[in-house]
Amino acid sequence: MPVTNKQKYVLALDLGTTGNRAILFDKNGELVGQSYGELMQYYPHPGWLEHDPLEIWHDTRSCMEQVLRSTGVSPQEIAATGLTVQRETCLLWDKTTGEPLHKAIVWQDRRTAQKCRELSEKGYAEKIQETTGLVLDAYFSASKLAWLLDWVKQNKPEVNLDHVLAGTIDTWILWNLTGRRVHATDQSNASRTMLMNLGTHDWDPELLDLFTIPRHFMPEIRPSLGDFGTIDEEILGTEIPIRAIFGDQQAALYAHGCNQKGMLKCTYGTGCFLISQSGQELTRSRNQLLSTVAWSEANGGKPTTNYALEGAMFTTGACIQWLRDGLKLIKSAPETEILAREVENTDGVYFVPALSGLGAPHWDMSARGAFVGITGGVQREHMVRAVLESIAFQVKEVVDAMNKDSETPISLLKVDGGASQNNFLMEFQADVLGIPVERPAILDATAQGAAFGAGLAVGFWDDYEELVGKRKRDRSFIPSKNQKQAQEDFLMWQKAVSRAKNWVE
Ligand code: ADP
Repeated sequence: MPVTNKQKYVLALDLGTTGNRAILFDKNGELVGQSYGELMQYYPHPGWLEHDPLEIWHDTRSCMEQVLRSTGVSPQEIAATGLTVQRETCLLWDKTTGEPLHKAIVWQDRRTAQKCRELSEKGYAEKIQETTGLVLDAYFSASKLAWLLDWVKQNKPEVNLDHVLAGTIDTWILWNLTGRRVHATDQSNASRTMLMNLGTHDWDPELLDLFTIPRHFMPEIRPSLGDFGTIDEEILGTEIPIRAIFGDQQAALYAHGCNQKGMLKCTYGTGCFLISQSGQELTRSRNQLLSTVAWSEANGGKPTTNYALEGAMFTTGACIQWLRDGLKLIKSAPETEILAREVENTDGVYFVPALSGLGAPHWDMSARGAFVGITGGVQREHMVRAVLESIAFQVKEVVDAMNKDSETPISLLKVDGGASQNNFLMEFQADVLGIPVERPAILDATAQGAAFGAGLAVGFWDDYEELVGKRKRDRSFIPSKNQKQAQEDFLMWQKAVSRAKNWVE
């Protein structure tokens, strides 16, 4: 269906770890309205984290309705929808009832760490890395889906497994948006399950066997920029084409215009994700980074795939949430900036943000969080500052790993995501890296990426380069006179990290 003159907007659905959002973008690529709902986090045991899939679906619907109501835009004015989601989080549901069989297991959840360790001891890590580009870790969906299936067999023996469907959050929401018609995912999300073969872009039969996942559970893998059906008429009163699906980090890479080899961005959300475009040739890391799909395009039947190298750090913004909700040391995330500026330094305190193990470049599932260097004079402000600094230190470790993997050192870091609003953090990041950090005016790069992809796919926009070129810069953070001190502190922080590694069995 060609885009009509009446269609003035593209709708992005951005379903993140902490909350769900619907955003409308106009022809200039500008944000015209948004609706957001925070998502309940369930911690049934230490190291476990679950989301309620029905809450995600109901919030998606209510965010869509609210953004239309608050802007006065009618559904008929929307040319297309793009979907971007938290990655790796997965669930099983019964297609005859539409009911999830268990809560979704979130990417940060560590319940399958032991199973992954056993597989590693049996020598599977190399095969998995070779096939999927990923490090064998509980972070990815495969071991979580295996756990869910075991749980269903044990606790709900009445469930007919022929009726069960599996999916990451994009798949679950797409299935619901399309009136239960389309069971599909895109290559960028599929590449995070640890079940997709990076060579064939299909589910790998040996890995499905290894994790005992029946193939009929799995969605069809489609290009990220392509046809995913339409939003069912029942939902908004008219059909709207769904033309792009991305994992959240890949969507941000797309929005930043990183389509040439070596272009990269870092998103500061619940975790931090530094991703570098590798072009259409798969690049493998020698420094514990992941090879993954950036996005793929349908291209009228001649699909192309772009790859990326990624450094995934699990707990960054999540530590700020923990300060607020767990420790109750702060009332809001922005307060961390005020508190950090009230002291000159951390008074020798270092924080290791290994609340759910350590991701890149350590991949140590048994590491746990730590404050070290505490003396009697240490106050709340020092501890809060140490937590913020630890985010920047983690990013520095991954930048160093990327530099080792590449011939050209990184000279500029483009950032986005909720925690990049924190000016103290961005200043400190520039100091510890010794390179400028550039922040765009719209921090919702993930939603922008989904909107840009869908709008370009239906011809609402024609030119990718022109569209991403219109994005406005907010601020550049240049390394200051404090950079030497920040880099010295980084070395001390690494010492603290070494103490927190291999902590639990
Ligand atoms: P996600 O997509 O992972 O849900 P967002 O990009 O929406 O994440 O960012 C939310 C995260 O950013 C939360 O973990 C929150 O603690 C953190 N955050 C938000 N604002 C700030 C701030 N001003 N300073 C530090 N952290 C912040």
